[in-house]
Amino acid sequence: MIDHKKAAATGSRKTWGKVDGRDIFLFTLVNGNGMELRVTNYGAAVQSIYVPDKNNHAVDVVLGYDGQQSYLDDSFYMGTLVGRCANRISGSKVTIGEDSFNLHIKEGGYHHHGGQRGFNHRVWEVNDVMDNSVSFKYFSTDGEEGYPGNLETIVTYSLDENNCWSIVIQAQTDKTTLFNPTHHAYFNLEGHSSNNINNHLLQINTGFYLPVNPMQVPSGTVEDVANGPFDFRALKPIGRDINEANEQLKISNGYDHSWVLEDQHTSRLKHAATVYAPSTGIQMNVFTTEPAIHFYSGNFLDIPSAKEGFSYAPRSGFCLETQHFPDAPNQPHFPSIVLSPEQTFFSKTIYQFSIMHSL
Ligand code: BGC
Repeated sequence: MIDHKKAAATGSRKTWGKVDGRDIFLFTLVNGNGMELRVTNYGAAVQSIYVPDKNNHAVDVVLGYDGQQSYLDDSFYMGTLVGRCANRISGSKVTIGEDSFNLHIKEGGYHHHGGQRGFNHRVWEVNDVMDNSVSFKYFSTDGEEGYPGNLETIVTYSLDENNCWSIVIQAQTDKTTLFNPTHHAYFNLEGHSSNNINNHLLQINTGFYLPVNPMQVPSGTVEDVANGPFDFRALKPIGRDINEANEQLKISNGYDHSWVLEDQHTSRLKHAATVYAPSTGIQMNVFTTEPAIHFYSGNFLDIPSAKEGFSYAPRSGFCLETQHFPDAPNQPHFPSIVLSPEQTFFSKTIYQFSIMHSL
């Protein structure tokens, strides 16, 4: 059982190791409702989130690793901040105005999650630590992974008394560049070790998604989800249609697609999705200023030894990554991800937790 009075103490930090001579820390933020958030400055990763379930037992609702070394070895973007550009961009050559540059590409011919060594494998500087928030800063140099411009990014994580984990990303560049970061937490509201996401009920607050080509890059059309496996307009178990004989599900081995949020052209905070796990009663609402939410059903997860010695098989966690559309640089009708020196990038996403005794 959770002792809320004890949990209401202020946050703390512990040393977790060193990388390239720089200190790695694990920070713990707590609130007065028994929630606890642990984050590290390696990859700006979230390591665990404890939420009291309907019986007031703490459940760790994100996948992760016990030690810092496993984050260094990780190839699943486990809980990290992904950048400069999350998701897939087809080909390597990208043009902004008159200028062309070559991004790092993966086998298969697309740029993925920021390149060979993206933000997820960088040591972030500890920028600011407050009672209920911590912010990390990363300076990405001109040309890193092929991107133009020196780019400074600050990510701030906070935990409030409304059980909101907020992520604010701000950035500035000295040359026009591309920027489309996201957070890559893998959630399981039944607990990180439950190894199954199929019984979670999911609602995504839109009727439109982006189909992909065989490279898993959006083909450019925006499709109506009506009545197909991509229809999450009303709460539906994630596992209900996931194994349907559907061309799009076959390409990605499950869900690995972006949904276009209504009001995509405004930067106001909007409700994007709700997930609910009946067995624990834990519900999570997602709000974002971003125009899209990418739902990845953990199709390729395969980690024999992770947090507390548990293994993570495919579909043992899901990501709800808020971002701009993948492949935006090659699709002029998608909202732009160009960032110029005159602008300050700002993006906010909130994952809010609550208990529902029944729906
Ligand atoms: C991508 C998946 C990829 C996973 C881990 C997700 O964001 O959409 O295709 O397998 O990250 O790399």
